[in-house]
Amino acid sequence: MKTVNKMKITIPAMSRNEALARSCIAAFAAQTDPTVEELSDLRSAVCEAVTNSIVHGYRDKSGDITITLKLTDDNCLYIKIADKGCGIEDVEKAMEPLFTTAPEEERAGLGFAVMEAFTDSLKVTSRPGKGTTVTMKKKLTGKYE
Ligand code: ATP
Ligand code: MG
Repeated sequence: MKTVNKMKITIPAMSRNEALARSCIAAFAAQTDPTVEELSDLRSAVCEAVTNSIVHGYRDKSGDITITLKLTDDNCLYIKIADKGCGIEDVEKAMEPLFTTAPEEERAGLGFAVMEAFTDSLKVTSRPGKGTTVTMKKKLTGKYE
């Protein structure tokens, strides 16, 4: 498939940047004239991934999150969210609904479930001590003109 547009942003892992990341994905998706539901799904999925990088990946440390967006001519949006934080020991287990390593922070363990539900595919790669990359794909109904 041909890439018709792309965008890459790097932002510091701070909670105020959750809203910024949500706005960026919405702004990028706007060119396909997305439905309200598609926009809301994208905002939620991206926010969960970015929040995870901030609260789990970097915890109290500072670091950057890179968001890469790509739109292809078949109207698919590819979203990659990467951090260089602590990484995940067991990705399969981490992706199980209700699994969390932070129950004391009242986390529900539903972030990956939300990303999975609101996109068409979700892939997580991670290396302990190196970082985590979440890749999502969403097929949009609108048309890129
Ligand atoms: P919730 O998202 O419902 O607030 P949660 O963040 O614990 O809770 P998930 O988003 O599903 O739940 O993530 C599950 C677990 O995977 C986390 O508890 C954490 O241990 C691990 N994890 C997820 N993303 C990252 C990341 N970027 N870096 C390190 N660990 C991560
Ligand atoms: Mg989470």
